[in-house]
Amino acid sequence: MGKKKKENHVHPPLKQPHPRNIYKRLPDFKELALKFPEFRKFAKTNLDGKVTMDFKDKEALSMLTKILLKKDFGLDVDLPSDRLVPTVPLRLNYVLWIEDLLANLPPKLKSSDIHGIDIGTGASCIYALLAARKNNWYMLATEIDEINFEYADQNVAMNSLHDFIKVKKVREDLFLCGVLEEDISYDFCMCNPPFFCSTDSLSMNGKTKDRSGHRLPPKNAHTGSSAELIASGGEVAFIKNIIKDSIKLKDRVKIYSTMVGHKSNVDKLRSELVELVGEEHMTLTSFNQGHVTRWGIAWTLNKDIKLLNCGEKSFSSKKTKPPLEYTHHDITLDSAVDRVRFLLERIKIDKRVIQKSSYEYAMELTAYEETWKNQRKRRRAEEREMKEVKRLKTEETNENHNNCKNNDIPQTEVNMYCDIQPEIHKTADINNRAPHKSTTNEPNPSDVNKNNICPSTVKDITTVVVINEEKNKVLSAIIILKVSDNKKDVVIQMSSIGGTGGWQSVHQLICYLKSNWDRQLKPNIG
Ligand code: SAH
Repeated sequence: MGKKKKENHVHPPLKQPHPRNIYKRLPDFKELALKFPEFRKFAKTNLDGKVTMDFKDKEALSMLTKILLKKDFGLDVDLPSDRLVPTVPLRLNYVLWIEDLLANLPPKLKSSDIHGIDIGTGASCIYALLAARKNNWYMLATEIDEINFEYADQNVAMNSLHDFIKVKKVREDLFLCGVLEEDISYDFCMCNPPFFCSTDSLSMNGKTKDRSGHRLPPKNAHTGSSAELIASGGEVAFIKNIIKDSIKLKDRVKIYSTMVGHKSNVDKLRSELVELVGEEHMTLTSFNQGHVTRWGIAWTLNKDIKLLNCGEKSFSSKKTKPPLEYTHHDITLDSAVDRVRFLLERIKIDKRVIQKSSYEYAMELTAYEETWKNQRKRRRAEEREMKEVKRLKTEETNENHNNCKNNDIPQTEVNMYCDIQPEIHKTADINNRAPHKSTTNEPNPSDVNKNNICPSTVKDITTVVVINEEKNKVLSAIIILKVSDNKKDVVIQMSSIGGTGGWQSVHQLICYLKSNWDRQLKPNIG
């Protein structure tokens, strides 16, 4: 009997949210009730003693969104009672996917200041707030509805984020053209479009399918005004308008993206985009949260940006691996970040900060060689080499045979950097690359040139660059350092996003960090 009963309650397996999504499980409602008195009236204790809440209660959902934004992002948000209540975990998946897409841009197209657009930001302004607070991205958030616009603007003000977010009231027939700020070139646009056909929406009460058999989203309480949910022609028509604008705007926006509510619509839009930009320049993903699935679709009109397979791999439920992680106790985020940066610099890992806040710090890591391997052996060999270099240098100085004046970097050391330090390569190849803002302390090539490296050496650097760029990346990963819930520890997470070494390399690198954390080390042993 008992067994049978259990079988009746088996849910389909949950698809995985984004690997970096902090909401992998349902929130601990007991903890929320203890921490936030305003949530207590919505917390219910089940017969088995578990604390939960009623997801069909709109007021409770609204409160949950507010306290999750407060607890996990330090965001204060006011939500009107008659407008859409965004669920934080699902929205976070979309922001994380945008992070992945931007991380995959070719180096010369990566900006140090990221500018994004959120079309239809809603009263919460949730995407723009998350993007600005989490990643320091500059956002233009558009809205047609007066009440939503006012609330969104107020929410930005409440969090003192007006330096990062501009909320703009726009006309209903505008999407991107006529909306963008003149002097800004944008890295991405995102959108959670209104997704019911106007006729279907009239019959949605109490139903789980619309007239064409499509699933409506009644998992939770229905929230949202008709203006937010109804777009004539439904989401496909809405998204087609964004596609039309993208054709006109071309690479004014590097990556165009939108969320899609129905799988059948994904298929329609996909074929249209394949025809427009070609398979290589578009990508799809699914945003999975609990039993809810939404889709993401992104495309580009910039031929230098390849989107195929980008993002999908980190999302597809079967292939997704949770990030590797470990915890350092009794340490501040700043000290942990300093130590990680030191340890990575020491083995010449290319790193790019993608997110920086008081509770989280994330970097994209790239390596072309397994520099973290055989550390002891390497240390010894390099110590020997350094001794030899010193000896030669002394001899050379004495003999005054050195062509390069004031060159305090020994020749071998320069070549060592060139071999494995892509930061130098990028800028050394001055012909066709935008200047790369280094976020690291490694010497950059302008410094190298200031050091009067003679031209022959620079030529050598360029040669190595070419060789290296042809080589595959061994490691491509994201590292995240997060303050733990008890505020005393720092959790370090690392996920593979590519590279021939895959998860094995990530595992080795994390072992290197762990085992060298407390060692006294010289900064530059490769
Ligand atoms: N981004 C929010 C709200 C999504 S609902 C969230 O994810 O929770 C869609 C929003 O788009 C509504 O607020 C609606 O008023 C707005 N909207 C509809 N057409 C628009 C247009 N042409 N330009 C900008 N916003 C629009």
